[in-house]
Amino acid sequence: MLRVVVLGAGAGGGVPQWNCGCEGCRAARHGGRELQRTQASVAFSGDGEHWFLINASPDLRQQLNATPLLHPKAGALRHTPIAGVILTNSEVDAVAGLLSMREGSPFTVYAHEKVLAILGANSIFNVLNEKNVRRQPIALREPFEPRLPDGARSGLEVLPFAVPGKSAWYLEGKVHPGGESGDGDTLGLKITDKATGKFFYFIAACAEVTDALKAEIDGAALVFFDGTVWRDDEMIKAGLGHKTGKSMGHVAMSGDDGAIARLADLNIDRKLFLHINNSNPVLLPGSPERKAAEQAGWQIPADGTEIVL
Ligand SMILES: [Zn+2]
Repeated sequence: MLRVVVLGAGAGGGVPQWNCGCEGCRAARHGGRELQRTQASVAFSGDGEHWFLINASPDLRQQLNATPLLHPKAGALRHTPIAGVILTNSEVDAVAGLLSMREGSPFTVYAHEKVLAILGANSIFNVLNEKNVRRQPIALREPFEPRLPDGARSGLEVLPFAVPGKSAWYLEGKVHPGGESGDGDTLGLKITDKATGKFFYFIAACAEVTDALKAEIDGAALVFFDGTVWRDDEMIKAGLGHKTGKSMGHVAMSGDDGAIARLADLNIDRKLFLHINNSNPVLLPGSPERKAAEQAGWQIPADGTEIVL
């Protein structure tokens, strides 16, 4: 049995974002917790006892506090059910939470060498003592079985694959510690429970829905997909910035080339948007965009949403 918990469904900055007074952030600030989103991350488990995180957001501490499944077990002085963290990119909203996981518990960080190079180049991540926290390189199209801290098998398989994207925003115009060439900055993941054969996909950053990507995810029981922006130019139109979704490595939900249209003809049981930016009107219940997404079969998950496959 594969259990998946949405720890956070928001994009970088979360909803509300600390310095933002846009409509979505104002609504989330004053309209109640159900309108708020922490930054994107999910937890998954094959046995309900040992858990793996996909990305470690800056909101990780808050997310763990809100998720009893991830608390230390009763009676243990020091314990965590978290056996590992799989990183799909090196953006702040994917890696900064690692800094909250320093306190000596053993776990493994799985990431492509390009992302590990960035962690290695930033000495603050040395708070994760190498004796306890292994950094395991993962490679495109090479499935691996994440291990438990004692080396035991997890019964899960993770397949990393390249999706159209870009390297981290803070590296724009800078030298990439992992080199400029090749894929690896933006990964999609296929997570399979080896016992049941059930699987889901995690693709929280994706600049373009290619035919190859469509073929990869067709037939999945569950897909988490990049829901950063509704329209490519929505941040510009709202006066929030000068960047388009595409320039940040995120395909829009709407439009002929958008995720909703491009994935409409696939056979996928459950489709959830993740990494939803505070500028995205789907976050407002009752908005026409929210209705359009839901009518197209997409779910806009609340933080804490749990799914069993
Ligand atoms: Zn905002």
